[in-house]
Amino acid sequence: MLSINWVALLYLLASILIIFSLKGLSSPASARRANMYGMLGMGIAILVTLQLQSVQNYFWIFICIGIGGLIGGVAARKVPMTHMPQTVAFMHSLVGLAAVLIAVSAMADPIAYGIANSQGVLHTASTIELFLGTFIGAITFTASLVAFAKLHGLVSGSPVTFAGQHVLNLILGLAMLGFGVWFCITPTWLPFLLMLAIALLLGVLLIIPIGGADMPVIVSMLNSYSGWAAAGIGFTLNNHMLIIAGALVGSSGAILSYIMCKAMNRSLLNVLLGGFGGDAKTAVAGGQKQDRPVTSGAPEDAAFMLQNARSVVIVPGYGLAVARAQHALKEMVEVLTKAGVSVRFAIHPVAGRMPGHMNVLLAEADVPYDIVHEMDEINPEFADTDIALVIGANDVTNPAAKTDPTSPIYGMPILDVIKARNILIIKRSLSVGYAGLDNDLFYMDKTMMIFSDAKKACEKIVQSLD
Ligand code: NDP
Repeated sequence: MLSINWVALLYLLASILIIFSLKGLSSPASARRANMYGMLGMGIAILVTLQLQSVQNYFWIFICIGIGGLIGGVAARKVPMTHMPQTVAFMHSLVGLAAVLIAVSAMADPIAYGIANSQGVLHTASTIELFLGTFIGAITFTASLVAFAKLHGLVSGSPVTFAGQHVLNLILGLAMLGFGVWFCITPTWLPFLLMLAIALLLGVLLIIPIGGADMPVIVSMLNSYSGWAAAGIGFTLNNHMLIIAGALVGSSGAILSYIMCKAMNRSLLNVLLGGFGGDAKTAVAGGQKQDRPVTSGAPEDAAFMLQNARSVVIVPGYGLAVARAQHALKEMVEVLTKAGVSVRFAIHPVAGRMPGHMNVLLAEADVPYDIVHEMDEINPEFADTDIALVIGANDVTNPAAKTDPTSPIYGMPILDVIKARNILIIKRSLSVGYAGLDNDLFYMDKTMMIFSDAKKACEKIVQSLD
């Protein structure tokens, strides 16, 4: 068994590796290495924890690690990139559930957890830690399950609203805090269970009014909640590593949520209160065809235009991921670049179905990072671009965000595709995107629609270019 100093030192090393991991994940160029740091840090943390004196029964621990590892390994191989948001939401729910279960078992045997005196009466500090870990964990658990169900299409993605919703949430929130305070003063099962039940209910109520278009921020917020729940339970278990890792996840998730709120012109406070999105018209499955005339062309026409252009900016979106068109697209970029065309990518912060979705896809196809630009960087360049090539993207290019104050996405920053000299849009139909909105870009004189699956269209364009 390691001495207490070694444990502290190794936990510190693991924490530093996790900090490096989070730092590296901010850029696709360092993301792979960052994952290795994270795995190493977590590996060290687990091994050090396993040899602690308090760990006494290895049999059940290894059975659980085996089952969990197997499920995780299979899921990592099987789950498609397009299902990542719901997978992440589901995983957050497990963190929340773990926090609740640990709290319940700590309540059942507080002496074993070292959080009570010899008569089994909880220390005051421990009651506060249990209170925090339990209610954050419980809200995370049910909120993440609802987010999972919405994102996976098990329930409708539309906002569920009713009169007095905010007042009800406020009353429940205050009641939960009240029972929490009662629990801290008199640490018995009754206030604990009442607080837990209300927190579980609140988790559901906070997520149901959120519309589909606002889900990315929610997924990120739940990430943050799961981190705080883990940190809270770290106090109960008196495990510094869990406190540090939980706090890192909690704070980085909160920062990411803030960045995404800014990218979508939402207020973080509204997200925290679960109130916004109630007026958003959300995902209309399949969408409806519009009556306005559009100009459409074949992939061969697009190829002709592209090879005669000086500059092309490609805007990838969710449809690129669904079609798995990134490799064909990479080939197209190579051929065009060889022909002397300047090709760059424009990435919107919420393009696709999760933060960084497009960057991951492009990195998977080995698209060079130096031609991939974030929205703020590339937006001023559209006006001097011959062709904006939009592939499977919709909402992130929708000019209504700037021009139509009645639009649910009004105020959300968008990629300024509309300013390019010519616009090519590859998608299968005139159907709406995730936010369920029509897009004026499709009907402009300078726009040519290529109605096709993204991968097939990219392959045909490459053939024509050859
Ligand atoms: P959108 O959902 O707005 O549009 C995607 C388009 O892809 C659809 O209009 C669809 O049109 C087209 N498409 C689907 N399949 C294919 C295919 N096989 N080939 C070609 N096209 C296809 O995507 P964006 O990326 O523009 O915007 C992302 C949206 O998702 C935003 O509203 C964002 O808020 C939301 N969101 C983002 C998250 C994030 O964190 N990034 C998480 C959750 C939601 P058609 O059917 O006609 O082909």
